[in-house]
Amino acid sequence: MKKIAILGSTGSIGTQTLEVVRANGDIEVTALAAGSNITLLEQQIREFKPYLVCVWDEEKAEELRIKTADLPVKIVSGMEGLLEVATEPKSSILVTAIVGMIGIRPTIAAMEAGKDIALANKETLVTAGHIIMPLAKEKGVRILPVDSEHSAIFQCLNGEQRQGLRKILLTASGGPFRGRTREQMKDVRPEDALKHPNWSMGRKITIDSATMVNKGLEVMEAKWLFGVEPENIQVVIQPKSIIHSMVEFTDGAVLAQLGTPDMKLPIQYALYYPERRYLAGDRLDFWKLKEITFEEPDMENFRGLALAYEAMKKGGSMPTVFNAANELAVSDFLNGRCSFLGIAERIEAAMQAHKAIKNPAVEEILETERWTREYVTVHC
Ligand code: NDP
Ligand code: MG
Repeated sequence: MKKIAILGSTGSIGTQTLEVVRANGDIEVTALAAGSNITLLEQQIREFKPYLVCVWDEEKAEELRIKTADLPVKIVSGMEGLLEVATEPKSSILVTAIVGMIGIRPTIAAMEAGKDIALANKETLVTAGHIIMPLAKEKGVRILPVDSEHSAIFQCLNGEQRQGLRKILLTASGGPFRGRTREQMKDVRPEDALKHPNWSMGRKITIDSATMVNKGLEVMEAKWLFGVEPENIQVVIQPKSIIHSMVEFTDGAVLAQLGTPDMKLPIQYALYYPERRYLAGDRLDFWKLKEITFEEPDMENFRGLALAYEAMKKGGSMPTVFNAANELAVSDFLNGRCSFLGIAERIEAAMQAHKAIKNPAVEEILETERWTREYVTVHC
C-alpha cells in the first residue's frame, strides 16, 4: 500500500489530496500538518488515522492533543514538528501543500530521507531550485508536479527525449482582471480579486492569479523542473483554463494536455505516476466548447509577470526577494494595508534595493527573506 504524508492538509490542495485518497481507498496517510485549523484536522485524524500530526501553533497543538486523547496519534508542533512529519519513516511520498517559504526546509529534509515529493508549494523551487533539483538527482527521488501547468508539461513530456524539447508554452487564464488597464485596477478590493474565473484555490494564490504573479512563479518553477532557459518559456493567455499547458519540440510539433479545470487530476497523477486511474467528474465536450481562444499576456499593466522574468534572469537570491516581497504585500492587501497595484510596486522596490547573492545556501535564502520583509515593512 502506498503511504503518504501531507503538509498543509487543511488547505485547498491538502483537502483535495484527501478526496483523491478517499476515492481510491488504497493509500495510507501516515502524517499530516497544518497551521491552526484543528477542527478540520480532528476530522481528518478520525477519518484517515495518521500516526503523526503537526500543528504549527503549540497552543492549538495542545488543544488538539486533548480532543484526540482517545486516539493513538502523536501531536507535534512548530518547525521541529513539520520536519518530523516530512521525514515520517513509513511514508514514501510527501505532498507539499503548505503555503509559503516555510515549505523549503521540510521539503529538503524529506528528500534527504529518500522521499518522493508531490510538489504543490511553489516557493520551494522558486527560491531554492538550484538546491532542490541537484538534491533530487543525488538522492534518486522524484519531484512530481501538482500544479496543473507543470503536471500538463510533465504529462506531455512522458516518453519523450528531453533534448527534443524546444519551448514551454505555459498557459494562464489571465485572472479576473484580464483586459483591464492599471487605471481600471487601482481601486480593486480583496473581495473582487478573490473571485477567480475558473479555479477555486487558497486566498494567497487567488490574489497571485489576479496580479499574474502566480504565472511568474510558475515560469520560475518550470525553468527548474524542466531545465529550460527563461527565453524558451512563453506565457500564453487561454482564458477558459482548458489547455493546462503545452510543449513545443525541435521539429515544430506541439503537444498539449487538456481537461476540465480540476486539481484532483494533477494530484492523482502525481500520487500514482506513471499509472492513470479513473477520476470522477465532468469530461470535455468539444461540441459544446466550440472554441479555445489565445492572447498575449499584458506585461505593461500586469507588472508582476514582467518582474518575475526579471528576477529569474538575475537569478541567485533575486527570486526570493520577488517571492517574499509578494507574500508580505499580498497579506497587507488582504488586510487593507496595501493597494492592489501596490503589490507589484513593493516587489519592484525590494528588487531594486537588493544585490543578488549567487547560489544562496538555505540559510542565505531565509536571511534574504527576512531582509526583504524588513525592507518592505520599513520603506513601502
Ligand atoms: P491554502 O491557503 O488553501 O492552504 C494552505 C495550507 O498550509 C493549510 O493547510 C494551512 O493550514 C497550511 N499552513 C499554513 N501555514 C502553515 C504553517 N506555518 N505550518 C503548517 N501548515 C501551515 O493554500 P493552497 O492549498 O491554495 O496552496 C498551497 C500551495 O500550493 C501554495 O504554495 C500554492 O501556491 C500551491 N498551489 C495551489 C494550487 C491550488 O489550486 N490551490 C494550485 C497550484 C499550486 P491552516 O488551514 O491551519 O491555516
Ligand atoms: Mg497553476
